[in-house]
Amino acid sequence: MSISDHGAMRTHGNGHLRAEHADETVTLAGWVDSRRDHGGVAFLDLRDRSGLVQVVADPEASDALEAAHRVRPEWVIRVTGTVRVRPEGMRNDRLPTGDVEVAATSIEVLSVADTPPFPVEDGIDVSEDLRLKHRYVDLRRPRLAHNLQVRAQVTSVIRRVMERNGFIDVETPILTRPTPEGARDFLVPSRLQPGESYALPQSPQLFKQLLMVAGVERYYQIARCFRDENLRADRQPEFTQLDLELSFADEEDIYGLIEELFVEVWREVLGEELQVPFPRLTYAESMRRFGTDKPDLRFGLELADLGEVFADTEVGVFKGVLEAGGSVVALAVPDGGELTRREFDDWTEWAKRRGAKGLAWGVVEAGEDGSAAATLRSPLTKFMTDEEVAGVIAATEGSIGDAVLFGAGKTSFAFQLMGALRVAIAEDRGLVGAHDDGSTRWEFVWVVEPPMFDPADESDDPTAATAEGWVPNHHPFTAPAPEYVDDFEQRPGDATTRAYDIVLNGTELASGSVRIHDADLQRRVFRFLGISDEDAEEKFGFLLRGFSYGVPPHCGIAPGLDRLIMLITGSDSIREVIAFPKTQSGSDPMTDAPAPFDPAALAEAGLKLAPKPKAD
Ligand code: ASP
Repeated sequence: MSISDHGAMRTHGNGHLRAEHADETVTLAGWVDSRRDHGGVAFLDLRDRSGLVQVVADPEASDALEAAHRVRPEWVIRVTGTVRVRPEGMRNDRLPTGDVEVAATSIEVLSVADTPPFPVEDGIDVSEDLRLKHRYVDLRRPRLAHNLQVRAQVTSVIRRVMERNGFIDVETPILTRPTPEGARDFLVPSRLQPGESYALPQSPQLFKQLLMVAGVERYYQIARCFRDENLRADRQPEFTQLDLELSFADEEDIYGLIEELFVEVWREVLGEELQVPFPRLTYAESMRRFGTDKPDLRFGLELADLGEVFADTEVGVFKGVLEAGGSVVALAVPDGGELTRREFDDWTEWAKRRGAKGLAWGVVEAGEDGSAAATLRSPLTKFMTDEEVAGVIAATEGSIGDAVLFGAGKTSFAFQLMGALRVAIAEDRGLVGAHDDGSTRWEFVWVVEPPMFDPADESDDPTAATAEGWVPNHHPFTAPAPEYVDDFEQRPGDATTRAYDIVLNGTELASGSVRIHDADLQRRVFRFLGISDEDAEEKFGFLLRGFSYGVPPHCGIAPGLDRLIMLITGSDSIREVIAFPKTQSGSDPMTDAPAPFDPAALAEAGLKLAPKPKAD
């Protein structure tokens, strides 16, 4: 037995009716999208998930007309009637069903509705709080309804591609022990073991590795992950990843699989053909050319390291920074010579807000007296030698009419600052490339060989600070590059790993790595991170014990589903592609979660609330 396409209560989806259905008697159902009542005749637009169709009620069916007078927007009704082709001149080209209408013979009210808190249409100006409070109404709006459909389409393609490649879907626990991914854990008190708690998984990392020990070989899961992070733009405390792991495999298998997957998603959902293989950049090269490990390759504006150009400079600020071991970094803005003084000042303010002392600038101009060599018009030029001017223009590949912007400071800061400026200026000046027809360009890139560790003071998670002052750049289960396996402890700032990220248009879509599959090496990494053997045994003993029973080499990755769908649907936030998201402060205005503890539940879990910190 199977069910009919539209359920037993109706014969068609509203949005599917066409001229070929003329003269058929149909039964439809849905929400009243709008009503135009002319007294003697009333028009209703009836909406369901397939779309809208116009229903007409006239005096020939007086009960139907009477009901049509009564109904209001968002009432749920069922209509029986005859499809007819609309008279010439009355057709609506903007509606797929615009050639037809349904002449109602009966209208049955299935449920009445209060006036909705906001109109059910796109492009409305309503606060997100109100939208989230009434998310069930919000999700009726065409754009959000579409996003949910795209999401389901993408997960369906994912399952097909994974199954085709021999992966099996295995569920892993939600109530578990902490899995470090660089954030805080959400804890769930245990009633059966009062005073103890579970942690919600930051990812299924340890379980998927143990599934490799178990011989599963190819695992995937569309997995919910939980990370208690500080408020940052567009993060959700719970989010979804396509989590996967495979044995007897290496980086090339991951690249091939993910490229196959994205090609198929783009083809099925957007009808676009992606070019593969995607380019690859090392982390070091990405930082040097773009000032970030998430480079947006839809535009150029590459950074130039001017350390050599200014090696013997008399330009005071640059000299000081370079002598202190820092960097001078510049980029050329095409046609930036048209920027006004005021605009340069605004960009300088922009840089100061990010902790810079300022920005220097210049404009590339034709040489005096028509000489071929270009010059730089800048407050700094008088301190520069001709070679330095030529060096700046050559390194930034500046052309006549371009502006050159300079940032200076500690090396990592200077590159990151100029990397952020590169993106901000490209957006501001409309340099983020689209295709000629205005459609989005998709620039994927693999960023590989990242550092093994980051200085702990650059970490978001104070609880992750380690004895040595380093935190893992990915997670502590990531294999070091072969040349660092023996002595990463002696060269923690140089060591790189066999991790990889896939970046799309400047957004990280997935991270993963080849894993450590040797208990001794894993213990050394823990030790280096300040996790003693006893602690390691207590926290990760189950993983290490697993490794002692025969572990295949393995690797994995986890593309973030929410961001993927956000980019595919052109949404500005992941909240637009999650059915029931939380606000930026982690609450849900609809259910009012989180809620105060129930005292009885607290007592059962053996917990007591500390007095609330006094607000001052
Ligand atoms: N567990 C990692 C994460 O969630 C992904 C991976 O290494 O596969 O970021």
